[in-house]
Amino acid sequence: MTKLGGTAIVVGAGMGGLSAVAALARQFASVIVLDRDTLPDGAAPRTAVGQGAHTHQLLKAGELSLERLLPGITGEFIAAGAREMLVGRDVKVFDFGGWMEDCDAGFTVTSLSRPAYESILRRRVAALPGVSIRHETSVKRFVVEGGTCVGAELDDGTTIGADFCVDATGMTGPLMRQLAEDGHAAFETEDVKINVAYASAKFRQKPEHRGQSTGFFFLPGPPGKQFGFLLPIEDDQWILSVGARGGDSPPKTIEQLRDYAKAFDKRVHDCIDGAEATSEIRTFRKATATRRKAWEAKTWPQGLIPIGDALSSVNPTYGQGMTVAACEADALAGMLDKRAETDAGLDGLVAEYLPAAGDIAARAWSLSINSDYVYPETEGERPANFVMSRAMANTLRKLAAEDLEFRMFRLRLVHMMENANALRDGPLAVRFFTALQGSITS
Ligand SMILES: Cc1cc2nc3c(=O)[nH]c(=O)nc-3n(C[C@H](O)[C@H](O)[C@H](O)COP(=O)(O)OP(=O)(O)OC[C@H]3O[C@@H](n4cnc5c(N)ncnc54)[C@H](O)[C@@H]3O)c2cc1C
Repeated sequence: MTKLGGTAIVVGAGMGGLSAVAALARQFASVIVLDRDTLPDGAAPRTAVGQGAHTHQLLKAGELSLERLLPGITGEFIAAGAREMLVGRDVKVFDFGGWMEDCDAGFTVTSLSRPAYESILRRRVAALPGVSIRHETSVKRFVVEGGTCVGAELDDGTTIGADFCVDATGMTGPLMRQLAEDGHAAFETEDVKINVAYASAKFRQKPEHRGQSTGFFFLPGPPGKQFGFLLPIEDDQWILSVGARGGDSPPKTIEQLRDYAKAFDKRVHDCIDGAEATSEIRTFRKATATRRKAWEAKTWPQGLIPIGDALSSVNPTYGQGMTVAACEADALAGMLDKRAETDAGLDGLVAEYLPAAGDIAARAWSLSINSDYVYPETEGERPANFVMSRAMANTLRKLAAEDLEFRMFRLRLVHMMENANALRDGPLAVRFFTALQGSITS
């Protein structure tokens, strides 16, 4: 089959960029990946991806997308030491005031450190035909001529030409800002001040915990400002992340981190009490959730798309970022493959991709921002539909506590396997709206 294009450039070799490469490599003769960072050989932390030291849950929808893009990759996660966790049973969730009752949600997820996920993905895409990854190569801007992106200009002034480019430069979106400054794009940027700070460290599991697949998510709801996650990862380790909202600072030492976790649950504390720390404590502050609405842009060049955090980056507490990027890449792969089958070429691809990616990002955005706005520490005016969306979320939470079908739906929603719209028109709609009406009138 002939390829759709000659050369594609992907700027950024994080989870978003690498997922995009998997989609592009099938339909471009060559895919050049450029990253300013030093990329390690294995699963080591990276300077430019500071968030990599913190828990990174890959949601089920993300796993399924990566598996479609790179068949067999879930098996590679497991071979690298990932724990397989049955959702509903192995992942214990303290949710707004109480632990969710155990159930079998019917699907598993894996648990690895972020550097381990990324290194497996990097190894897989580096082995695809036509793919070359150049690290320590910083891109200054995309080159746009006559309304079409024709390549990328590096910091050293050299230019690389391409038929198609992808911006996967992460949450600060340096190249989208530059694109707007250069007059090649006009789009709205929406920031919500979420004021979240994380502190994390890894611990060697004590012998009695090795081989376990249990993890804990502690999300107390307001007025609680502190949250935390404990997950089993590769090499018989735990990764513990705790966080705070508002001006509160998370712990700064390993001992403070252990103490902080005591407040969550005795089981969490038992896991790390006396366990040897295998990393230093690392912190990360994320002030805003940000989306750059390229899908509504007044001006946008042909031949260029953003993916992952460059397009939209939400509060990490809900574990959606890698999944959104993988789902966007999966959608892109579907579009490219269909175009190749029908000889449709690349014309109109950007107009097809942007709204689809915007929809994927919007699903994560509305789930996370509506939860963020419940906390007084989240600054800014609440949207007009906030009261109704909270009533709906509370009704779903209450039904999920009482009814297994709703609990399973909620877990699928959190894992981005369901769209919230399914509550309006799916088989649970009548019971859901009856309960919602009851809660509003009572
Ligand atoms: C504390 C924290 C915890 C998180 N937990 C989770 C979680 O549990 N689950 C989850 O799914 N997500 C989580 N996330 C979100 C997740 O990290 C991001 O969504 C994900 O990393 C996005 O990938 P990306 O490829 O878009 O960006 P990144 O991974 O940030 O990659 C961007 C890449 O672009 C490169 N780059 C930037 N500028 C240039 C340039 N000018 N030239 C060349 N290269 C450049 C960088 O070096 C980097 O390699 C968390 C985030 C934070 C902050």
